[in-house]
Amino acid sequence: MANALLDVQDVVIRFGGIVALDHVAFTVPEGTVCGLIGPNGAGKTTLFNCLSRLYIPNEGDIRFKEQSILSTPAHAMADLGIGRTFQNLALFPSMSVVKNIMVGGHHTKRSDFLSNALRLPTVTREEHDLEEQAWELVDYLGLHEVAHLPVAALSFGLQKRVELGRALASHPKLLLLDEPAGGLNHDDIDGLGKQIQQIRDDRGVTVLLVEHHMSLVMAISDKVVAIDFGRKIAEGTPAEVQRDPEVIRAYLGTE
Ligand code: ATP
Repeated sequence: MANALLDVQDVVIRFGGIVALDHVAFTVPEGTVCGLIGPNGAGKTTLFNCLSRLYIPNEGDIRFKEQSILSTPAHAMADLGIGRTFQNLALFPSMSVVKNIMVGGHHTKRSDFLSNALRLPTVTREEHDLEEQAWELVDYLGLHEVAHLPVAALSFGLQKRVELGRALASHPKLLLLDEPAGGLNHDDIDGLGKQIQQIRDDRGVTVLLVEHHMSLVMAISDKVVAIDFGRKIAEGTPAEVQRDPEVIRAYLGTE
């Protein structure tokens, strides 16, 4: 197995009396797609929020490329090489597809870029490079025909693709995808699964995927981690996790 790109070590997080994550530990090997599953309220989003430094664990450590990220501020995560998408899309609805993707590439000077994009007509060298990169992603993700449209004019499925492009524009080594299949139809989900595997294979991006759509997770993941009530209950290949009695109990309420 490849080296661990991400190493989650005994993470505990409490909200008042609730233990949302209870000594959760697992690794994400470099160059893989890892699925993180669990019933509603299991702690998946809380874990993602720890990984992107929106929450600070009460105990434990999170290591990326063998370095702890706990003292890295949330705004510097993209510089480290960790990108993410959100359950509720984090796009600028009135800006074009290509400009939204450019925002993702401009993570170190995002506010300067936004003021330029919204007001100033001058095009700097940096913006030119960002635009070139954004067009490459537009083509890669099949968004050419809608590239100049405001994001608000796109279907939900296409907006999700733009969000993927925005996250890829920061050149992540690790991409955190939060329920990418949520709200998509069957065909879109098939396409998304292929796209995630291509992102791993063509661009060398390691993916950690939180997803309720079980057949997608099982079809595209190299490894699956299951949590319930904030505890890890299983970890292994999709086939191993699917037949794990604790996983079956967590989802069906019976063994
Ligand atoms: P879903 O699949 O429904 O999105 P989830 O697995 O992502 O669920 P979380 O949203 O991480 O679950 O929630 C885990 C637990 O932590 C829940 O009991 C939730 O109410 C609690 N929780 C999460 N964030 C907070 C917070 N900021 N304050 C208090 N409790 C929280």
